[in-house]
Amino acid sequence: MIRLSQHIAGLATPPASGRWLDVFEPATGRVLAECPAGDGADVDAAVAAARRAQADWAGLPASGRARWLERLADALEARLEDFALAESRDGGKPLALARDVEIPRAISNLRFFAAAATQFASESHQGEAGLNITLRQPLGVVGCISPWNLPLYLFTWKIAPALAAGNCVVGKPSEVTPLTAWMLGELAAEVGFPPGVLNIVHGLGPEVGKALVAHPGIRAVSFTGSTAVGRGIAATCADALKKCSLELGGKNPTLVFADAPREGLVEAILRSSFQNSGQICLCGSRLLVERRYYDEFRDEFVRRARLLRVGDPLEAETRLGPLVSQAHFDKVSGHIALAEAEGGKLLCGGNAVHPAGRCEGGWFVAPTVFEGLGPQTRTNTEEIFGPVVTLQPFDDEEDALALANASSYGLAASVWTSDLRRAHRLSAGLQTGIVWINCWLQRDLRTPFGGVKQSGLGREGGLDAMRFFTESKNVCIDLG
Ligand code: NAD
Repeated sequence: MIRLSQHIAGLATPPASGRWLDVFEPATGRVLAECPAGDGADVDAAVAAARRAQADWAGLPASGRARWLERLADALEARLEDFALAESRDGGKPLALARDVEIPRAISNLRFFAAAATQFASESHQGEAGLNITLRQPLGVVGCISPWNLPLYLFTWKIAPALAAGNCVVGKPSEVTPLTAWMLGELAAEVGFPPGVLNIVHGLGPEVGKALVAHPGIRAVSFTGSTAVGRGIAATCADALKKCSLELGGKNPTLVFADAPREGLVEAILRSSFQNSGQICLCGSRLLVERRYYDEFRDEFVRRARLLRVGDPLEAETRLGPLVSQAHFDKVSGHIALAEAEGGKLLCGGNAVHPAGRCEGGWFVAPTVFEGLGPQTRTNTEEIFGPVVTLQPFDDEEDALALANASSYGLAASVWTSDLRRAHRLSAGLQTGIVWINCWLQRDLRTPFGGVKQSGLGREGGLDAMRFFTESKNVCIDLG
């Protein structure tokens, strides 16, 4: 049994409460580790440590901060296999996905923002009123709260720009998947990362997360998670006039036109539907298909969805691992029952899977496809966050756009067509923060990342993140 600790002032620290939470391995349903049940006392200690470290960290030249981030990235790269295995066991994701995509992306996040630290520049203006120079200064101590679906990938996506911009951080990973963030804390201690610059507190959201958001020493909060929790965080931040950035839920449309380039099409849409068992905020869960191509697409998509292997995430052939927890399994199963009650026609899946052997007690659900549900059903409006998608036909571009935008969410969309003009028209009309044309989840880390409507507020990535984690100050010099 692994017992995790808080990472405060560079030291592994037990929770002040003396309490621990069970962390489960979703593939087996058994306890894998114990994570600190942190509370406000741990947050107080972490914020105090961060405050003590703040002036020295902000005072380093940008290249000095960049070198520390690079050192952490090097150490992570050297331990990639260990981190990938931990991520797979903790979250249930296929080992290959953790090894080939998610941990490498965590390394890229650290390296990308190390480079950003040295490239970040500010503006100057002259010709109207004196010479104006804009300083970009770190905010101080900031809070970074991340979810369970892409644990280290999203945790580093937040802490790296915060640190690069000269802030000290109190990070709070999900209590459902705390392993790799804990390991990152250990790694930071090993490489001698300056104590107090990066603190990591574990525990339940409504306890340690809430205390972090409300702490008067926290100048800004960067949050990724559910819309309901994000709304509460926004309210707390509004009250204290704190900056916050919110990356929230989604119900993303996938628009497939009859003229879509066929090569690799169905495989790409299977991936966008079921990668990480549909537990990615960017997965497309509403498949909108042009009516004259609908039957052909549906039959091929369903045939191939049935072939996707559900099983032990440690086995190389596995495409779908389990859902992350018993509670999430129950939630997704409830949505499947609801889809049937709403009159949906089940085309495949809809059932729990019990692989023989080690994973018998895991929380597996087969890839599930429904048709026959209208745009206003709960199935098509509520985020399910599992391997469940619906198919809806559309007649023309206008119809497709109306269906795509019939959602209170607005994170991402993908459009599959060979008509370039149509792709541009739809990109402009889609009410989302991200549009992919003939691709899905291609990421250039310089681009703005985030959603509209109930999917969030603010943008991460590249300069947007560096700007979020700094305050601009204008200095006007009289030129006489
Ligand atoms: P969640 O909102 O339950 O939890 C997210 C984090 O917030 C966790 O660390 C949790 O402990 C913490 N938390 C919970 N209550 C809190 C509170 N009252 N105060 C402060 N912190 C609190 O979300 P989840 O179930 O971990 O993640 C799934 C959700 O995240 C889905 O809705 C998904 O769409 C969303 N998500 C969005 C993006 C994006 O980029 N937009 C990316 C990944 C996941």
